[in-house]
Amino acid sequence: MLTPDETRLLSFIDDDQLIRWVQELTRINSVWRPELGLGEEQAARWVEARCRELGLETRFEVVVPGRPNVVAVQRGTGAEKVLLFEGHTDVVTEGDPALWRDPPFSAVIRDGRIYGRGANDMKAGLVCALAALAAVVRSGLRLSGDLMLAALCDEEGSMLGVKHLVDSGQADGVSAAIICEPEENHICLAQKGVMWVRAAIHGVMAHGAMPLTGVNPVQPMARFLAAMHDLEAQEIARFGQYEFLGQPSITPTIVLAPARGAGEPQNNVTPGSAETVLDFRITPDQDPAALAFQTRQLLNAAVAVDPRLSAELEVLEIRPPTSTDRAEPVVAALASAFTDLTGAEPTYGGVPGTTDGTILHERKGIPIVTCGPGDIHIPHHVDEWVSLDEIRQAARLYALAAARYLEVTPVAPARGQLASQGVTPAPSARGQSASQGDNV
Ligand SMILES: [Zn+2]
Repeated sequence: MLTPDETRLLSFIDDDQLIRWVQELTRINSVWRPELGLGEEQAARWVEARCRELGLETRFEVVVPGRPNVVAVQRGTGAEKVLLFEGHTDVVTEGDPALWRDPPFSAVIRDGRIYGRGANDMKAGLVCALAALAAVVRSGLRLSGDLMLAALCDEEGSMLGVKHLVDSGQADGVSAAIICEPEENHICLAQKGVMWVRAAIHGVMAHGAMPLTGVNPVQPMARFLAAMHDLEAQEIARFGQYEFLGQPSITPTIVLAPARGAGEPQNNVTPGSAETVLDFRITPDQDPAALAFQTRQLLNAAVAVDPRLSAELEVLEIRPPTSTDRAEPVVAALASAFTDLTGAEPTYGGVPGTTDGTILHERKGIPIVTCGPGDIHIPHHVDEWVSLDEIRQAARLYALAAARYLEVTPVAPARGQLASQGVTPAPSARGQSASQGDNV
């Protein structure tokens, strides 16, 4: 059941503007391609401009040259809670434009969909969060806690944007986050983690016609990879299927001999070195440190057959898996919002990859839930698209969930600050926010 305040809040979702905003933001090419002067800056400026128009406290912050974050806040009336809507402004490469039916950044609408690189992942989700904030501001409803939007750079790479947000203290105090990634508006409670490990084996380079004069690192590398395949099978047998995430995996994504930086491969040369990169996808029951330890032992065993062999192992990155309880207030707020908007039970799910939410959860312990418009299988594809219906639904879902999580403060007409309910107090709310200054 919607309260009168909630009905009023939802009436401030402007569908025409919502769809136009998704088109506008999708048309801004924000592939990170610094050699062409491309990056997130223009998209971030667009988000910043919308936030300033709404009178939000808005911060535009350069993380690395050409790669800014935008963080905006609508202050609440004093409660401790802070709800963060998180999205990224970067998009992956469009690849060969000739493979696209329409120009990749045209954002054309056809058959109830917006087509374009980044429309799905995740300009639409970001705009829906912005529209939810706009509805809160325009409705004049005062929420008890703070409502925050973070439009971050470099999610598709090293996640520099969210790491900066955390390192600079801007995520301190955030009590829950909704990650607006494309999940068909499913409520995703778990995310697989990832660990990238580089393993190298060093032998002795030799003439291919006289192999006994050297030590080939390729056979021990093959033994190591076979052992890792066995380890994967053991992990699957031990941990099985995790709810919403399925089974863990260990995938060799790179195998090279000679190793990177150790010269060119040649038909008649026994390489002096070999390297592999292993991509571990981790479910919440697994322990990345224990896996790294086992991997090191298997690597050492593979080279133990000859004292002239040596090995090195480097953990390149660990992004742990995450899992959020259904009882978390942010999950409950989204779920009840979904039910009251649609009359149906929400679909719960999981995310096979990592998101910026992984960093928020890992470094700050913030409960995260991933939920946003867009077909789950479409990100990074040619002819990427997002459904208009899902966009309209997500904007309402976000606005309602924000009101329920942060709670609506009953409007008291004290000191002439705000008009009574029913009158549109948006201008005074805007004026008040703007008078607090432009920086968070
Ligand atoms: Zn994304």
